[in-house]
Amino acid sequence: MKRTITGIAVLLCVVTALAAFGAGWALSGSPVWLRFVTLAAIMLGISLVAIAIISGALRRDASSLRLAIVASTPEQQSNRPDLGDFQDLWPAFDAARQKIRSQIAAVEEERAKLAAVLDSMQDLVVAVDSAGRIQWANEPMRRELEGAVRHGQAIVHTIRDPEVLLCLQVALDDGLVTQRRSTSLKPGRIFEVNAGPIPGGGAVAVLHDLTRIEQVERTQREFIANVSHELRTPLTSISGYVETLLDFERSLSLQSREFLETILKNATRMTRLTEDLLVLARVESGENPIHPAVVSAEKMVRDAVASVRGIVRDAGAKLDLGVMDDVNVMADADATTQVLSNLIENATKYGRATTGEPARIEVSVEQKGGYAEFRIRDWGAGIASEHHERIFERFYRVDKARSRETGGTGLGLAIARHIVMQHGGNIWVESRLTQGSTFAFTLPAVQG
Ligand code: ADP
Repeated sequence: MKRTITGIAVLLCVVTALAAFGAGWALSGSPVWLRFVTLAAIMLGISLVAIAIISGALRRDASSLRLAIVASTPEQQSNRPDLGDFQDLWPAFDAARQKIRSQIAAVEEERAKLAAVLDSMQDLVVAVDSAGRIQWANEPMRRELEGAVRHGQAIVHTIRDPEVLLCLQVALDDGLVTQRRSTSLKPGRIFEVNAGPIPGGGAVAVLHDLTRIEQVERTQREFIANVSHELRTPLTSISGYVETLLDFERSLSLQSREFLETILKNATRMTRLTEDLLVLARVESGENPIHPAVVSAEKMVRDAVASVRGIVRDAGAKLDLGVMDDVNVMADADATTQVLSNLIENATKYGRATTGEPARIEVSVEQKGGYAEFRIRDWGAGIASEHHERIFERFYRVDKARSRETGGTGLGLAIARHIVMQHGGNIWVESRLTQGSTFAFTLPAVQG
């Protein structure tokens, strides 16, 4: 470029000087204005010719530069192009070009790796854009939907399962991560669906197949229910005969009586265990559907207190009613009263003061927002925070020996949690060591 402009400038100077000299000589007798116009016309013509030459040279160099930048074959890329006046710029362009190329290659490699990882997953993955059109689906998803996945097609035309669509809708509209259970994506299959927003727009759904796990769990539950059921009759028979012997057999030695009492105690414990296992298997399988109706929360508390009065009295515990809001709830009265009785019974068993005095228990119910909150408080030894979540698991006991000694099965809280969850409520414990415990649960309140 520099060379072209310098050449043109020199040429322009020489030609202008010659033209001015020639015009001056040719028009020596003419008026000044004619000489001036002639000179201006000559200079305009020369300038136009110079501009045409410069722009032609520029266009040629720019075109070589463009070809060099977009060069696609390795030979084209390695050849140093003839860029004329742009030659000096080439190293900078080449460095930038190489950098962009390597960055694109790195991004492509990452993308290929990610696609390979997602394709080798067992879970089904699908991503949609902000208008709900399919952008990408992994191999398992494409396989499950038997070729129905088409890029750019609205997801509603590919997946009809309402749970999957709802999860994606929530992710797109509200930007929230949602989890649901899908049972109609494929007949006989159960999926856990998790969907969340993608930064920059769109959403992604991940479907985890739960079919096998649920099958195994169902088989386990059925097995437990059958075993519990089968054990019931022999256990009732053992208890019955032992009780009869203890009540009517006068010739029993002291030691035989002691043995029989131990047998009876253990048979009773086993009976309770089989009963709890049966109840748990039923609530977990969803076989025991609850029958919610409008019921007074206070009435349920009073019924539960009445049902455990004997246990509370035998333990010498003191039971008081605290705040009793006049609130109705939507609940299965029998199931909920069972939860309340179980928590009061636990407070009686484990709420004994550290000084050894019998337990003091307070039961209350308060309306909070759209829920009624039931609270069962004791002033016993309390529960360390690491057990708070786990005590709602089956057979989890903080103090195994104490639980056994008090006839506990370790299943009461697991049953309670299932029943509360079935009602759409929540259950938790608030407790600190030596400070006592409060077991609380919520049930949906009925307005008006
Ligand atoms: P269990 O039949 O053993 O009572 P639960 O499921 O009802 O079984 O309770 C699980 C465990 O939680 C109990 O073994 C006990 O260690 C602990 N627990 C329950 N209620 C209380 C309470 N009010 N205070 C302290 N510990 C409790």
